Amino acid sequence: MTAAVSFSQVSRHFGPVKAVDAVDLKIAPGEFFAMLGPSGSGKTTCLRLIAGFEQPTSGHIEIFGETAEGVPPYRRQVNTVFQDYALFPHLSILDNVAYGLMVKGVGKAERHRLAEQALDLVKLPGYGARKPGQLSGGQRQRVALARALVNKPKVLLLDEPLGALDLKLREQMQEELKSLQRSLGITFVFVTHDQGEALSMADRVAVFNNGGIVQAGTPQEIYNRPRNRFVADFVGSSNVIAPANMQRLGGETRWASLRPEAIRLVSEGGIAATVMSESFLGSATRLHLRAGEIALNVMVPAGQATPKPGEDARVSWLPTDLHYMDGEA
Ligand code: ATP
Repeated sequence: MTAAVSFSQVSRHFGPVKAVDAVDLKIAPGEFFAMLGPSGSGKTTCLRLIAGFEQPTSGHIEIFGETAEGVPPYRRQVNTVFQDYALFPHLSILDNVAYGLMVKGVGKAERHRLAEQALDLVKLPGYGARKPGQLSGGQRQRVALARALVNKPKVLLLDEPLGALDLKLREQMQEELKSLQRSLGITFVFVTHDQGEALSMADRVAVFNNGGIVQAGTPQEIYNRPRNRFVADFVGSSNVIAPANMQRLGGETRWASLRPEAIRLVSEGGIAATVMSESFLGSATRLHLRAGEIALNVMVPAGQATPKPGEDARVSWLPTDLHYMDGEA
């Protein structure tokens, strides 16, 4: 099957800075693909390379089987939704959405009809006459989305599109984006540094570090089987245990990760530890324990009694819950 987006050994260096370095990547048509990683890891540069705002220093990019080389941004079947929405404040919502069509020479009646359709799609029917300043942050975000969708792109690039929204609105928009993507069948490539957002929304996630992809896989693969310490540390809140400590715990002498929810409090057996602190999270309580020099986060479901800071506890887990991995950080 032809990939929607394909990178072969793509690099984008800025002088000595290797913003993107020898990246291989294949995004399938219709996939919701998240690029996850810390600030400066190369996610935005990858997105700009797909959009055509940036050219590779070396390597090859294809979009739906066609080389992207020499193809300007407006001729790619790709649109971008930026974090700051980049709406024109003096234009009406309808004209903001219709702007790209106007540039392409689509007549007024037709572009307004298509813009109204796009506003329906993002659940803003009847808002066309307003100006951006008369909308809430969440509504402006939808307008930015409508403006990208009106061009009927085959690939939609989203650069931290929910970053400016408060938590509740963010969660609501996450669900809306996902169902919109499913119903339209467009390939979405989504940049975020929020691991929860990437895991909950994406079909596949690529974890970036230092301009490269450390691991790409389904959210379950990334979460349950992190390739190395970096992925385990960055995604979720896994306990990362060093080889020497693993040996002391009776496991293999290798780096391992252990999810907080896999650790159980037991009354006898297991390993003796001391509770250092606790955080109430609503649906669970997170305990921070120390067993000698081994620090362990434990997630205790709500309703279960928990030992208090300073008290002793015993913990145990199934050997199969230990995930061994590379020590590379
Ligand atoms: P963030 O989450 O903060 O947006 P990011 O993962 O998207 O980060 P990029 O914006 O792709 O990271 O940047 C990767 C690296 O390339 C950074 O070190 C950045 O400073 C550098 N970089 C990006 N654009 C340029 C440029 N035009 N000139 C020089 N360096 C750049």
